[in-house]
Amino acid sequence: MNEFAEVIVDISHEKVDRPFGYRVPERFRDRIRPGMRVRIPFGAGNALRTGYVIGLTSRSDFPGERMKEIAELLPGEKDPEARMIALAAWMKEQYGSTMIAALKTVLPAREPVKQKELKEFRLCLDAQEAQERLAVYEKKHAYARARLIRALLKEPVLSGHFVRDVLRISPPALKALEAEGAIEEKTVPFYRNPVRPGGKTGEKKALSPAQQRIVTDVLAAWDAGDRRPSLLFGVTGSGKTEVYLALIEGMIARGRQAIVLIPEIALTYQTVLRFYRHFGERVSVMNSALSAGEKQDQRLRAKRGELDVIIGPRSALFVPFPDPGLIIIDEEHENSYKSETMPKYHARETAIELAGLCGAAVVMGSATPSLESYEKARRGEFRLYTLKERMAGGSLPRIYVEDMRRELREGNRTIFSGRLAEKLRQRLAAGEQSMLFINRRGYAGFVSCRSCGYVCKCPHCSVSLSEHRAARAGYGGQQGRLTCHYCGYEQPVPRICPVCGSRYILGFKAGTEQIAEQLSGMFPAARVLRMDADTTRTKDSYEKILSAFANREADILVGTQMIVKGHDFPNVTLVGILAADLSLSAGGFRAGERTFQLLCQAAGRAGRGAKPGEVVIQTYQPEHYSVRYAAAQDYEGFFEEEYTYRKLLSYPPASHLLAVQIQDKKEEDALLAAREAAQWAAELADGQTVIIGPAPALIEKINDTYRYGVYIKHKDYSRLTAVKNRIEERRAASGRARGTCQFDFDPLNAY
Ligand code: ADP
Ligand code: ZN
Ligand code: ZN
Repeated sequence: MNEFAEVIVDISHEKVDRPFGYRVPERFRDRIRPGMRVRIPFGAGNALRTGYVIGLTSRSDFPGERMKEIAELLPGEKDPEARMIALAAWMKEQYGSTMIAALKTVLPAREPVKQKELKEFRLCLDAQEAQERLAVYEKKHAYARARLIRALLKEPVLSGHFVRDVLRISPPALKALEAEGAIEEKTVPFYRNPVRPGGKTGEKKALSPAQQRIVTDVLAAWDAGDRRPSLLFGVTGSGKTEVYLALIEGMIARGRQAIVLIPEIALTYQTVLRFYRHFGERVSVMNSALSAGEKQDQRLRAKRGELDVIIGPRSALFVPFPDPGLIIIDEEHENSYKSETMPKYHARETAIELAGLCGAAVVMGSATPSLESYEKARRGEFRLYTLKERMAGGSLPRIYVEDMRRELREGNRTIFSGRLAEKLRQRLAAGEQSMLFINRRGYAGFVSCRSCGYVCKCPHCSVSLSEHRAARAGYGGQQGRLTCHYCGYEQPVPRICPVCGSRYILGFKAGTEQIAEQLSGMFPAARVLRMDADTTRTKDSYEKILSAFANREADILVGTQMIVKGHDFPNVTLVGILAADLSLSAGGFRAGERTFQLLCQAAGRAGRGAKPGEVVIQTYQPEHYSVRYAAAQDYEGFFEEEYTYRKLLSYPPASHLLAVQIQDKKEEDALLAAREAAQWAAELADGQTVIIGPAPALIEKINDTYRYGVYIKHKDYSRLTAVKNRIEERRAASGRARGTCQFDFDPLNAY
């Protein structure tokens, strides 16, 4: 091992795809690591250049003896670029992708963005000299020069803009002044700063004893060298953000920087303002709304030590701080922390790896922690902290569960249960606001009975079947097929419910538009705002709708899961959750967890102010444990039941799962490649390995490309990376195109 190193000479992207092989001299073999900077002879003249080690092997594609040798290992512990390259090497191994794709994820493309510059002028004379010079200029009627000196006597540095456009000093006059040694012209870099809020800085809240204990403990553990990540489990409004602020302050005092990850959708003006009030100009944001130039400027500011805090979605992890000491992941259970393109990394695991590389603390927060994190906290791999009470004094809302099967039996064909309609009426009369949340995650085609709540499920896998949208030859007619995405089982959509015989067995398709229409019918005077993918297409429409609602320009806000996060609306006293169970049947082993999280979060929107809140959950499956535990606000109970189920079926976090996804324009080839992958996986299998498939993907065909999956389960993650490596090697050896096979470890979505 470590005999040969792959080295990239320049990390501008054009050259990244050309790593060069070097021999590692004996004396370096113990110390060399991916990410290290090295000096290497390069090119015909063998001039020494600096490069980065991106991989180490014991074999070589070249005749080994003839290779050039690495000349020197350079110290580079604190070099952010070296750290990112080491991280990329880890991501490539952990998640499966090319090194180029991994490098492109962690290092920004070197886009030709011009660094903006500012000119400024400063006085080179002391006050006495300046006064004398001023008298001379006035005598000579050199008014422009006199004007500038007078201005500089009041303000020793003036911007180029002010000098040229306000004082109207001509270039020749400036030249003359410089030649006479009276002034100096300087060019300073100008950073585009996306954070420009008003308001004062230095605002602070006295922490509660519970908050203070957490802050003290986390910092003390860090000081003692304990690098275990922490999970902060606290309901919305329990003061987690205040804890983050205090922790960041503590880290800044220790000379380190902080990265704050929040879901992109939660990155609102209000959030940024809260951080700005604490840290002023030394905080910045990083997200997809920034221009390439703005992004580059934030990286430069971070690298040069001009920032202490960066806030952003998962890509903010890769901001090149000199010495990060803290990584915060708010709403750690959020799906958006996982990348959907190769490498399909999870920001939580990647943050922990990065923290290991730079000795940072990781603190994750959530009101509904992921099964993964809570399981680790229970085992002691994470430290667990809980915040039980809401800080602003608001109490937890009263929750009602309405059985929509009964409503139907009683002749109610509207979207609203009798109780929800009545409560909406009360709110309108009292001038209070309501939010209606339609759970649309399960839209991917599950079919259920409106009379008894029966959901079509796979007889082999205990996941719900999905109605296929991709039209397939031979099936024709209105009656679709139901497929299992885990084993490939298929059946036609039943015409009558196999349990109760009702004809009301249908796919669910109520959108925000229909809800808004029905509302207007029932309450013609109500002002209704709608928020979903359709109404939030433009850049700031999301913020606009939310602030209109916050300003009480509407009585009812109807929306998809988008409305669940972000703002605090103190005047909202009623939250209605329609089709609570829709996401249960979305297919996939995480459906129960996702439903529980959504219900808890939606419920958390009610009663954030002084007035108590109420929540109405409408469901066809009131007996389902996700609905029951959410209604009872019982996370522990939910965790126990869900984890038992995961253990029984060997799903994460009880086991690890690798999804191998094959895509091909020809269906036979896709199937063949998937069978091959399953075969290679089988060669590495031991008694604990479970291999499922090949099975067609959830959406079997996209853009005329067929998609097949193979699923491999094992308790030991490294057995799965070995399978991935074997598949990669075999495919490369048989000349298969790389892009047609993707890996997803512990997937969040059903395929
Ligand atoms: P979370 O991040 O858990 O949702 P926040 O930190 O946003 O909770 O706190 C909820 C509300 O309580 C905010 O309005 C916040 O200003 C307030 N708050 C939090 N901690 C304190 C404190 N120690 N003293 C007074 N108000 C607090
Ligand atoms: Zn039925
Ligand atoms: Zn199945």
